[in-house]
Amino acid sequence: MNYCLKNHDRITAVQEILISLLPDEEHMPGKDGDLLVSEAEFDADEVRCRTDVIRGGVRQAAEIRVPYTGNAIERRRALTYAVKQSAYLALLPFLPEKPAWGSMTGVKPAKPVRLALRDGLAPERAGGFLHERYDVEPRRSLMAAQCAFESIQYLERLKCKEVQLYVGIPFCPAKCRYCSFVSNDVTRFGHLIEPYLAVLHEEITAAGRSLRQAGGTVGSLYVGGGTPTTLSAAQLDALLSALHGAFNLSDCREITVEAGRPETISREKLEVCARWGVGRVSVNPQTMRDDVLRGVGRLHTAANIREAYRMARQAGDFCVNMDLIAGLPGDDDAGLFESVRQVIELAPENVTLHCLALKKGAPLRFGPRGVLERATVDRCHELLEAHGYRPYYLYRQKYIAGGLENVGFCRGDTASFYNVCMMEELGSVIALGAGGVTKLCDRTGRNVRRLSNPKYPTEYIGSRGRILERAGSLLQDAEIW
Ligand code: SF4
Repeated sequence: MNYCLKNHDRITAVQEILISLLPDEEHMPGKDGDLLVSEAEFDADEVRCRTDVIRGGVRQAAEIRVPYTGNAIERRRALTYAVKQSAYLALLPFLPEKPAWGSMTGVKPAKPVRLALRDGLAPERAGGFLHERYDVEPRRSLMAAQCAFESIQYLERLKCKEVQLYVGIPFCPAKCRYCSFVSNDVTRFGHLIEPYLAVLHEEITAAGRSLRQAGGTVGSLYVGGGTPTTLSAAQLDALLSALHGAFNLSDCREITVEAGRPETISREKLEVCARWGVGRVSVNPQTMRDDVLRGVGRLHTAANIREAYRMARQAGDFCVNMDLIAGLPGDDDAGLFESVRQVIELAPENVTLHCLALKKGAPLRFGPRGVLERATVDRCHELLEAHGYRPYYLYRQKYIAGGLENVGFCRGDTASFYNVCMMEELGSVIALGAGGVTKLCDRTGRNVRRLSNPKYPTEYIGSRGRILERAGSLLQDAEIW
C-alpha cells in the first residue's frame, strides 16, 4: 500500500502499523493506488490525527484525539500513538479478522504494562491495560500482564552492579530453512570454529577483567547461538573453563547452554555441562513431526529428540527447556497440537512456543507457509496451562505468523532469570562473540549504550584487536551502574 503523511513526520509509526497489519505487502511513499493518508493537527493540549484509507476503490476513515499536557517528548508520544491508532482503525474494516495484538507494534508487550504499573496503574487494571489502549485481545492483554508481574519480581531481585552475560556460538550442524539468525553450517564453515574460539577466549578474558575492575557481578550466564553443542566436548569444556576463570560466577543464579539440536547432544557434552555448573539446557524439537522436520532442513527425528531428552535427564539435574514452532511449512493445526501434547508428555520444566517468523535471510522467506489458526495456538496455551505451565515471558517479531507471539512457559520456580532480564530489558547484558549486542544501563534502567560485535565469524576473527580493546574498557564509564 502507498502512504502519504501530512503535517507530521511519524513515518516509522505508519510503516510499523502497515507491516504489522499487512505483512505480505510492499509499503511505499506515494499518492495514488491503494493509499493511506495520515494527517495531524495540533492544539495547545491535544493532537488530532485522521487517517484515510482507499483500498480497492473503497474508502474508510478514522480520527483520534490524544490529549497531552507536558513537554516535547510527551507531545511526540501522543502523536505517535494517534498516528498508529487512527491508521489501525481505518485499516481494520479491510482485514479478514481483528488482529490478536490490535494496534500494538512493539515487540515486548509486557514492558508497557510494567512501566504503567511503575507509573501508578492499579494492579487490578493491569490485565486490561493493553486491551483498552491498543485493542489487544483480552486473553493476550492478560498474558502480557502476567509476564509484567513476573518481570517485576525479577527486577526487585537484581543486585547493584549485576550484569547478565551472553556468549554466542554461531555454528550449527546445518542451516534450518526458516532460520534468519547468524548461524554457520559446520559442513561449510567448520574450519572457522577453532580460530573463532581463540578470539572468543581472549574476549572473555578481557571482559572478565573489565567487570572485576568495575566491581560487577554476573547474575546469569547464557551460552547461546547457533547451537553451542555443535562444539566438541573438549571445546565446550575449554569454553566453560575460560568463563569460570575470567568471571566470578559464585553469585551466578543460573548457567544455561542451548543444546538445541539433538544430533549435537552427547552424554559426554552433557557431563561437561554438569561439571561446570550448567543447570539449564534446551533440547528443541520445533515439531514432533518427522516429515515437517525433514522439510525445514533439520537433520533429526522426533525419536532423536526423545533420546536426547532422556540423555539430559540421566546426565545431570538439568532444568530442560523445549522449543516448538507453530506455522512451520508442511505442518497444520492438528500437527502443532499433537507436538505440544507430546512435549508435555516428556515433562520438561520449560516449554517455549514460538510462531514462525520468516525474516530477511531466511531461505524459506518467500516459500510456502504452514497452516496456523489463532484458535489452535490458544488451545496449545490452554493445554500447557492445564498441565501446570504458566507464561512468564513473551515477545513478538516482525513478520510473525498470524501476527501472534512467542511465549516462554515454566512450571513452579523454573523460570529463566536470563530470559526475563533479556526480554524485559532489566539491567545490563554483556554479550560476547559474533553477533553479540551488549546493552549497558544506568541505575534507573535507562539504556545508556549499545555495543554490537561483528555478525559473522570471519568479520569477528578479523576484528580481534578492536574487540579486545572494547572488551577491556567495557565498564570504565562512570555513567554505567
Ligand atoms: S538450530 Fe537455530 S540457529 Fe541453528 S540453523 Fe536452526 S534455527 Fe538457525
